[in-house]
Amino acid sequence: MVSVGAPIWTLSLADLEEWTKSKGEPLYRAQQIWRWLWEKGVSSINQMSDLPARLRVSLASEFALTFPQLVHESVSKDKTRKFLWEMPEGGRVETVWIPHSNRYTVCISSQVGCSLNCRFCATGQLGLERQLKGYEILLQVYAVKHLLGLPVTHVVFMGMGEPLLNYTAVIEALTGLSQKLKLSPKRITISTVGIPKGILRLAERKEPFELAFSLHSAIPEKRQMLIPLAAHIPLEEIRHALGTYCEKRQEWVTLEYVLLEGVNDTPKDAEALRAFVAPPVRAKVNLIQYNPVPGLPFQGSKRLSEFQKSLMQRGLLATIRRSRGADIAAGCGQLARQV
Ligand code: SAH
Repeated sequence: MVSVGAPIWTLSLADLEEWTKSKGEPLYRAQQIWRWLWEKGVSSINQMSDLPARLRVSLASEFALTFPQLVHESVSKDKTRKFLWEMPEGGRVETVWIPHSNRYTVCISSQVGCSLNCRFCATGQLGLERQLKGYEILLQVYAVKHLLGLPVTHVVFMGMGEPLLNYTAVIEALTGLSQKLKLSPKRITISTVGIPKGILRLAERKEPFELAFSLHSAIPEKRQMLIPLAAHIPLEEIRHALGTYCEKRQEWVTLEYVLLEGVNDTPKDAEALRAFVAPPVRAKVNLIQYNPVPGLPFQGSKRLSEFQKSLMQRGLLATIRRSRGADIAAGCGQLARQV
């Protein structure tokens, strides 16, 4: 049975019910299809064995059951795994699976490539090819869970792309993660370079997801040097949006800070960071160990612990994110689709 038509993944349960009704079938048929799609994970419509053949035929003639195709897989010595997929609508993206005791995090991409061109990031060197559809973002988690059979407890939007520059698709994926794949939004983190409009839209949402902001320097001139986009968005405007986010949602945000040798790791940098975290912004800092990118002039700072201590002394909550999967270029900012 060859599937054509709209991707079946985009349908809600209500859409499916309407569809089965239009076929003169009982409502529970929609539930059956839903379970096959989202709980059991089928690779073809023919596998939906408790559906009458006529319904399978109509389903396959109207909807497509498409999957990301696995192009390449790498496994790190720390058990992190990186997958390169060909997406259903074209283009290649990477997804990373990171096991850590009883936590299994999938790091997903929101765009094919990235438009930001952050100086220290490998993905930034690719440029933006296209936006991913919401279902293509969702399918990365689906594929890891159902096609590869790996456990998934957490999802982070920290792969390729800038989630808030593909807002609608990201929200569609977020909704799908909780309603279709039954992952609590509490275990989902959206990471952004700082798009005030997007942050303000997130502030209005009710799902309890987490927000991380890639700060990297609280000194505007320095931040602009690292992140070209920062020249067009005043840091103060981002701070204001984060403050609104914290107030509206009564939540904290995480500030991501890649510590770069001789760039942003001095006491002056710690002081600026301290000043950035003032009401209404409530934030903890996550210091990220830099993953080297060949050809880029940056090195990870040796002062991670020292910098952490200096933040704590200033009354900030600071943790360190050690590199995972760096030997297979699966670490943050190393995704560049090299096979
Ligand atoms: N565009 C989003 C999400 C993708 S990047 C954002 O900017 O937040 C996820 C995180 O990895 C960001 O904090 C990013 O700055 C960081 N990162 C990029 N390159 C890195 C590298 N080489 N080593 C460590 N972290 C890196």
